[in-house]
Amino acid sequence: MSTTILQPGQIEGASGDIPELRLPSADLFGNRARRLRQLAEGHSLADYLRFLAALAEAQQLAVGQLGDLPLPSAGQLEQCRAHHMPPLTPAGWARDPIWRSLARQLAAAVRTATPAAGQAALDRIVASADDWLEAQAALLLESRSEGLDLACAPILGAALQVYWSQLAHRLTPAQVARPEYPNLCPVCGSHPVASVARIGGAENGLRYLHCALCESEWHVVRAKCSNCDNTKDIAYYSIEGGDGAVRAEACPECHSYLKIVHQDKDPNVDPVADDLASLALDLLMGEHGYATSGANLLMIHGSET
Ligand SMILES: [Zn+2]
Ligand SMILES: [Zn+2]
Repeated sequence: MSTTILQPGQIEGASGDIPELRLPSADLFGNRARRLRQLAEGHSLADYLRFLAALAEAQQLAVGQLGDLPLPSAGQLEQCRAHHMPPLTPAGWARDPIWRSLARQLAAAVRTATPAAGQAALDRIVASADDWLEAQAALLLESRSEGLDLACAPILGAALQVYWSQLAHRLTPAQVARPEYPNLCPVCGSHPVASVARIGGAENGLRYLHCALCESEWHVVRAKCSNCDNTKDIAYYSIEGGDGAVRAEACPECHSYLKIVHQDKDPNVDPVADDLASLALDLLMGEHGYATSGANLLMIHGSET
């Protein structure tokens, strides 16, 4: 383990015309699949990461087959923007039933990549009633694990990611207000999965939080707790012997941490993939008394498994 302490402003340049919001790209799941396969090489959780790669490939395929999804009207978008409200919150936006087809499609697509023990969960999704899927989605989106089918949750989360990211993809940054609470996604109000320190272009050296649901990214200065806004004595933890591409940003005030992935260490880092491949860092942070403030829809912590 190693730690360093940074103060805000030490590394972040003065903000001027920096992009505050990065909406999801059309090929994000394909990139994630490649990253997961890269991370699986020599990894103790290689089979698990390859399953997730197959899931991300199925997500990318589903994106290509989706038509244009209905968006909020221009009037609704403007009202949200004027009131600094995220326009696509799960509680405020009636999700299109197409997400249920996506869930069944993903379950069928990853069957051959799934060990026999996991196939019953896939069958449950393929044969599920609409009401059950909607109830499970509601639990997942409200971060409630009681009553959630934990074996099915990653597939349902993946389907919701496809649906929400494709809505977000069709927005423009000008349609979205700066968030009232910068710890939540300005597009859909969800928690971040992790943050990414980016390289290249106008975003070089900037840190963005990455939404766990709609895959949008929003700018938050470095060395600032994304959970409670504290800027004092933020510390960074990493696994000894790693390449430093993934660290945990820990806050002594609220005792939470959020992972940060560094493109300057590896340009292929992906907040979701690298979060899933760095569970050892979560264990380390737990030993130090920190709880994660991140959410990952593909890894639901509803039990001790
Ligand atoms: Zn979002
Ligand atoms: Zn904090």
